[in-house]
Amino acid sequence: MRSPRKPSVWIISGPSGVGKGTVCARLRTLRPGIYIPVSLTTREPRPGEVDGVSYHFVSEQRFQEKVESGELLEHAIVHGTHSYGTPRGEVADAIASGRDVLLEIDLQGARQVKRNLPEAQLVFIAPPSWEELVRRLTGRGTENASQVEHRLATARVELEAREEADFVIVNDRIEDTAQALIVLMGL
Ligand code: ADP
Ligand code: 5GP
Repeated sequence: MRSPRKPSVWIISGPSGVGKGTVCARLRTLRPGIYIPVSLTTREPRPGEVDGVSYHFVSEQRFQEKVESGELLEHAIVHGTHSYGTPRGEVADAIASGRDVLLEIDLQGARQVKRNLPEAQLVFIAPPSWEELVRRLTGRGTENASQVEHRLATARVELEAREEADFVIVNDRIEDTAQALIVLMGL
């Protein structure tokens, strides 16, 4: 989908479990023209995840090769376990074809993108309350108890980083959040 205005890059960040994935999926349904790159990760696929669609699932060695050849716009070890990174080429191609780009990445990656592409806008998705964040993260059921503890510890630090963001949206109701992003992004 070609846009008459200059395409923009938006970074969606925020603590694990706040609803970033859900919001981005909703936004993609409402505005299919937006481009969300497929990240690389060294973690194992979860049931139902498809290689090349959910992520590019790669070995540690392959990931390092991509880092060394400069093929990643940003990369980080997330939640202290696995590496994740955004393919630079996918972002460049999308911008060249006039599409807005949405990056759903962690805060370490968000900071790198802001350094590399200062025009990128960082949107911090915040929970309505700490209790609701805990409820969403535990309710999702994709992490065991110790992984939840680790993610909540990271979340405490990440919540303080909302000050760095260009915009903050509280993800109370998913439809409201998606609409707020559509307005903000001028979609
Ligand atoms: P993240 O990608 O930020 O880690 P997810 O999108 O996986 O978070 O959402 C975590 C859980 O919270 C999921 O079970 C999801 O269905 C739920 N969720 C997301 N947004 C909302 C919302 N606005 N209200 C209630 N539950 C939500
Ligand atoms: P999950 O393993 O649950 O799919 O993702 C874990 C976290 O990794 C999410 O909070 C997500 O924001 C982050 N993430 C996903 N892709 C990337 C990426 O390409 N770069 C960075 N820095 N973080 C990512």
